[in-house]
Amino acid sequence: MSKADSLKTYRAKRDFSKTTEPRGENQGGSRRAQERVFVIQKHWATRLHYDFRLELEGAMKSWAVPKGPSFDPNDKRMAVHVEDHPISYNRFEGQIPAGQYGAGKVIIWDKGYWIPLEDPRKGYRDGKLKFELHGLKLKGNWALVRMKNREGEKQEPWLLIKEKDEYVRPAAEFSVVDEMPDSVANLPQEQVESSGRKKKDSSSRQA
Ligand code: MN
Repeated sequence: MSKADSLKTYRAKRDFSKTTEPRGENQGGSRRAQERVFVIQKHWATRLHYDFRLELEGAMKSWAVPKGPSFDPNDKRMAVHVEDHPISYNRFEGQIPAGQYGAGKVIIWDKGYWIPLEDPRKGYRDGKLKFELHGLKLKGNWALVRMKNREGEKQEPWLLIKEKDEYVRPAAEFSVVDEMPDSVANLPQEQVESSGRKKKDSSSRQA
């Protein structure tokens, strides 16, 4: 699928004269291939969910995660695969007007960069992505795994799973969505990068 085609569904759902969300034009080009960003947007739509987005192939591959992520590997979180969003959507925070697609408040809940641990294009196609997250809240190794569609299901169900590493925290002791509910939009990207580099330092878990 070309970059232009990949955003067709995203654009078709929106009236850009009414919402301040970006159309997503003129991207790609100058970006370095190694820089892959991720964002998680907390979205109070009809139901609260967390939009988990990974940059791949010139767009943000996207999953809607109703319960949000968990640092407990036993919490396999449902992640419904949804349409690609433009990379410029990563900076969007605000109110989608009533009557528009996805009406409700959106905040940037986490942001940073991600590192695929296996070929990400193949992983995305085959339904098994393994990667490291270097965000302000989410760190360490994670996986997105596609499940079999049940009959009549239009959107692919995937699972977002924390993989075992030094960042694992049991659900009984820590819930990242409850304890870190707020926007990180105004926190600088440098902070994300330095917290990523200090991976082995346990103090960076407080970020
Ligand atoms: Mn959403």
